[in-house]
Amino acid sequence: MIPPIPPKPANLADPAPDFPWPAGKRCAVIPAFDVDAESPWLIMDPKNVDRLVTLSFGGYEARVGVPKILEHLRSIELKATFFTPGWTVENHTKSCESLLKAGHELAHHGYLHKWIDPDDYPTEVDEMDRGIEAHERVLGLRPRGYRPPAATSSERTIELVADRGFLYCSVMLDDVNPNRHVLKDGRPGPVDIPFWWTLDDSMVSLYSLSLPRPIATSQQIYDLWVEEFDAIYDWGATYHLLLHPQIIGRPGRLAMLRRLLEYIQGHSGVWFATCEEVANFWIKKEKGQGAKAKKGARR
Ligand SMILES: [Zn+2]
Repeated sequence: MIPPIPPKPANLADPAPDFPWPAGKRCAVIPAFDVDAESPWLIMDPKNVDRLVTLSFGGYEARVGVPKILEHLRSIELKATFFTPGWTVENHTKSCESLLKAGHELAHHGYLHKWIDPDDYPTEVDEMDRGIEAHERVLGLRPRGYRPPAATSSERTIELVADRGFLYCSVMLDDVNPNRHVLKDGRPGPVDIPFWWTLDDSMVSLYSLSLPRPIATSQQIYDLWVEEFDAIYDWGATYHLLLHPQIIGRPGRLAMLRRLLEYIQGHSGVWFATCEEVANFWIKKEKGQGAKAKKGARR
């Protein structure tokens, strides 16, 4: 028998409004990286702490991936957002400090990258609070944005993000532009910066014996990401790259990313921005629209 499942909208917010990007810009491009390091491998199976080869997948980030990505971003004068689990902050502090020193944004990405279980709210809260605590204690910064590990969530995730005072989150898949969450009690929630799997490198390039997937060629990934960019540019929407230093930081993949960013930079009217910059801009616009509406009401 099929159990009764009442219809429940996942997102109470209206679809993202059409709004102009900053003057002269027609779309936003966000280079974002999830600095998971060894955390997903440890949470997947705690015994992996003794499987040094498995761990070395994540260890590639601090040794090679992050420095190479930093070098590249510096060479093209681009700032990015790095969603970082608290465990990474504690165990790869120097690597995180190098990101901050280069002027990039660090945002929250759980503590040990534990997937959110809708039936285990206390652990969801613990992951959230330990992640915040690690950023504050080790790096002296309070992250402004949050992305849950592996796109997992519960019915209370957005409320938790709002309660902890985040400016924005990157949780939903149901839009092509930022929009503001509406909490169940009608209060405004954080701004959401949506993403989609086609721009996630792990979908096309993450391989391990425990996660066997076809490995796409760099040219296939380039073609996919250019195709997405062309359409998003046409729509005037948000191109949100979701990358992982342990995946995109491999030599051939990074060469492809370099080529892709050159292609995008060859277009006029592209606004390269961090997630925080996009959220702040969106809020500024929202306030402007509110002021206009009030003015209209007085007439
Ligand atoms: Zn992650």
